[in-house]
Amino acid sequence: EINVDDKYEFLKKIGAGSYGEVWLVLPKTSSPTTSSQTKQYVLKRLDLRQSTNNTSQNDIESAEREAKLLSTLKHPNIVAYKESFRSKDNFLNIVMAYCEGGDLYTRLKEKKSQKQTLSEDQIVEWFIQICMALQYMHEKNILHRDLKTQNVFLTKNEIVKVGDLGIARVLDSGNDFATTIIGTPYYMSPEIFSQKPYGPKTDIWSLGCCVYEMVTLEHAFNAKDMNSLVVKIIREETPKLSKNYSQPLRDIITSLLKKDPDQRPTAKSLLQNAYIKQHILRLL
Ligand code: ADP
Ligand code: MG
Repeated sequence: EINVDDKYEFLKKIGAGSYGEVWLVLPKTSSPTTSSQTKQYVLKRLDLRQSTNNTSQNDIESAEREAKLLSTLKHPNIVAYKESFRSKDNFLNIVMAYCEGGDLYTRLKEKKSQKQTLSEDQIVEWFIQICMALQYMHEKNILHRDLKTQNVFLTKNEIVKVGDLGIARVLDSGNDFATTIIGTPYYMSPEIFSQKPYGPKTDIWSLGCCVYEMVTLEHAFNAKDMNSLVVKIIREETPKLSKNYSQPLRDIITSLLKKDPDQRPTAKSLLQNAYIKQHILRLL
């Protein structure tokens, strides 16, 4: 029986997750002088007590899946997993690296309120890092399924870490996830509304929405209600992008947001794109 307070010191609550609370914590070590003592982590915790009734079976499965998937993923652009355990107070605890830079959504909101824009180099750098995370996941047949700027985190050195694998799944031909509409409305792809299964190209659509947001500081598809949003996603051509950004970058965004998933590039092919390769060389 593990007592979570014996293992971690809770510093502050940094989020109320969809299935529980997110805390900034400090591991408690027996040797007080080690440097590890100053390293902060994020602890996501979920109440497993059936009696309290504020946790559904779905939430429990989500959290368990996230812990299991995160533990198998090891990549410089995916939030690093530390451990997960059930504590004496009957919570499931998932411990992961803390990204001091916060999430990309908040970062873009700040830019917008300061009437600033992101440089093309910055956008492409973040784009490449998300692509690398996706390529790694897709190669393992894992779909993220909830990629959005709120789930992309930044370290203090501005390195991108894709996180929140709460609804990520292993792609399994025997399974059909099409029946449930999942994810966040703004990022939902056209195929989701025609009952097609969620595939790697659906993550690519979400990636397109993320890069579009980096360029415009606005959602790619936005409407006052759900019905008009769906119509826009299915029918409306992607709004034209500012000429302040290069043609190759605008072409990439257009390709990510193709209505037909088969016409969208794979994460792997994006990293082989001539314009992208040029930037990768710049970053080496
Ligand atoms: P959910 O979206 O299911 O609530 P998230 O994993 O996205 O769960 O966490 C919720 C919020 O907590 C995030 O939007 C972010 O602000 C913060 N957060 C989560 N994980 C981290 C992390 N590793 N580093 C920094 N902040 C985090
Ligand atoms: Mg989230």
